[in-house]
Amino acid sequence: MPYSPQILDNALGAVGSTPLIRLDRIAKQEGIECNLLGKVEYTSIGGSVKDRIAKRMVEAAEEEGKLIPGHSIVIEPTSGNTGIGLALACAVKGYSVIITMPNKMSLEKEAALRALGAEVVRTPTEAAWDAPESHIGVARRLEREIPGGIILDQYANPNNPLAHELTTGPEIIDAVLSTLGTVERPSSGKVDALIAGAGTGGTVTGLSRAVKKTHNKSCIIVGVDPKGSILAVPESLNTSDAGAAYIVEGIGYDFVPDVLARAEVDTWLKTSDDEAFAAVRKLMRSEGLLVGGSSGSALSGALRWFKEDKEGKRIAQTKGANVVVLLPDGIRNYMSKPWFLKLALEAEPTPLAHTIASILKPG
Ligand code: PMP
Repeated sequence: MPYSPQILDNALGAVGSTPLIRLDRIAKQEGIECNLLGKVEYTSIGGSVKDRIAKRMVEAAEEEGKLIPGHSIVIEPTSGNTGIGLALACAVKGYSVIITMPNKMSLEKEAALRALGAEVVRTPTEAAWDAPESHIGVARRLEREIPGGIILDQYANPNNPLAHELTTGPEIIDAVLSTLGTVERPSSGKVDALIAGAGTGGTVTGLSRAVKKTHNKSCIIVGVDPKGSILAVPESLNTSDAGAAYIVEGIGYDFVPDVLARAEVDTWLKTSDDEAFAAVRKLMRSEGLLVGGSSGSALSGALRWFKEDKEGKRIAQTKGANVVVLLPDGIRNYMSKPWFLKLALEAEPTPLAHTIASILKPG
């Protein structure tokens, strides 16, 4: 969060308020003329874009009298980041938390959750969403059987997209509006396109509403869905790989969550693990951004949109057009994952590594 000249009441005061950062070096490498901008969500206090919805869902449930201090136990099925946001909100507010999470999600997320005092139940990754053993099925069973148990339900809770409509979107719009164009760095003065991955779809839906309702109704909203998931439209995009496993965490599902308004997303792209991880490496090496895997999916979706889509090609070559890529979390969630260790430790030796080796060689 940018420096705040105030004493914050508690950690929840440092949710969101994330920076919008130019990705100039990547734009140059890719021959892109527009302003390519990253909304970097890992600087939020819990480390992801999902802090925003956790805070809003907890506060709304308190206002509605659904969360009762000393009685309620918050239960949530999540890929981890919503869980971390909820666990930190509940640590501050004094509620117990149970998180159900598929096995494929990182150990780092489980460790953070447990450190924040949450109970964590792992579930089989391959279980269908409506199977009793899935993360959703287990959460529902625990809610039925634990007195005071309540699922705030990020898949159906309107406060999920609303958090992005009221915070993430306006922050992007304000940053673009308050950065005047110059001769060297022209600006259209508006958000021209926005690219985000979809898990629950709350982020992409809320961003679409914020930008189209209040700012620029012709802004193009691009949704990114991993190969193997079924969220993209038209359905034909999903058929060839439906059900295939993918490693990237936090995006893609085998059902369409209620909060994802697919009609409010203009166009969809499918991305592979390999292109996502290659894009993570670009964000790290060229821009100094320690982002997680789904940030790579979003960037690789943007780069493909610039190359393959008629509108994408036009915007990529329009000087001053502002294109925002939503980067949902940071690499510290994935430090032990083989894909990251490979990317970080097994990269081609740099020329400098050869120089060091020749200086330090024995004899
Ligand atoms: N990336 C990561 C790392 C996430 O944890 C999530 C949340 N599941 C997303 C992307 C997608 O966000 P949303 O649920 O708002 O679609």
